[in-house]
Amino acid sequence: MSTAYELSPCPVCGRADSAELAGMDDLRAEVEEVWDFHLQRLKTGTPTRFLTDRAVFSQDPPLRLARCEGCGTVYRNPREHRRELVETYAGEQVDEAVLRSLFEAQRDTYRAQAQRLTEVAGGPGSGLEVGSYVGGFLEAARERGWAFEGLDVNEGTSAFARGLGFRITAGSLDDLRPTRTYDAVAIWNCFDQLPEPRAAARSARALLPAGGTLAIRVPNGGFYAALRPLLSGSASGITRAVLAHNNLLGFPYRHGFTPESLAGLLAAFGFEHLRTVGDTLVTVADQWTRPWAAVEEQAVKTALKAVASVAPAPWFELYARAV
Ligand SMILES: [Zn+2]
Repeated sequence: MSTAYELSPCPVCGRADSAELAGMDDLRAEVEEVWDFHLQRLKTGTPTRFLTDRAVFSQDPPLRLARCEGCGTVYRNPREHRRELVETYAGEQVDEAVLRSLFEAQRDTYRAQAQRLTEVAGGPGSGLEVGSYVGGFLEAARERGWAFEGLDVNEGTSAFARGLGFRITAGSLDDLRPTRTYDAVAIWNCFDQLPEPRAAARSARALLPAGGTLAIRVPNGGFYAALRPLLSGSASGITRAVLAHNNLLGFPYRHGFTPESLAGLLAAFGFEHLRTVGDTLVTVADQWTRPWAAVEEQAVKTALKAVASVAPAPWFELYARAV
């Protein structure tokens, strides 16, 4: 059941009509569920930091979510101002030991992305990662022969990555005045957070010569939109687990692209679609997770991966070539 509203036009395709997917009360309830969900799965005595790491809200929860009637993208209305977004990211502070363990964990998981990118691009070359954070992907790419540099608004994590020998430019995709092009541009963890996806696609195109490769990883708004109504039905328990284990409950993102809407956006800015890969969020369970909850997470993600070639996946990567 959906109600039509007059909202700001779709930030991806520009169409004006959309349906409300979730209202403020729905979303507030979902955020409560995120905390309950993770609290139930943590051992007694777990330090607070490990809870806040799980209930990740690098974006404040949305006030209202709409779904575009044209392209299916899920987006927030009212929209937030760009300035506040950048400050949210730039202000995050974490200590050195935490950065080191994040770096090692992310380097290991990003090896899969580095391998796929190398296959799609036909071999290593130069690259820029937008949102390079602690440098986990930069290192995974370096292991495969790439010369990747980073772009990030967070000075603390960028200083850490520079200490590993990477060139990191301070700033965002919008502010960047490119002085060169790269063989590849990768946006693994922030394309869904960028305030203006059309401007971001244009900026990414300006960083690539014809034939260059763009890689983007985002949460699947279509997956969330399809499962959200089941939160109140007889399958609410498994639906909640599937969404929460993929950090989709409460939808802490600005834009929920679908594989089709993202491919359409990129086509409008000079990209040819190469490959879409469905995926889940990386494993979150650690020594603080109750054993049954680690088993549950593994079961949920294994099942989702098993059906990823025939059913929508909670996350996806899209590879495209500049034309
Ligand atoms: Zn749209």
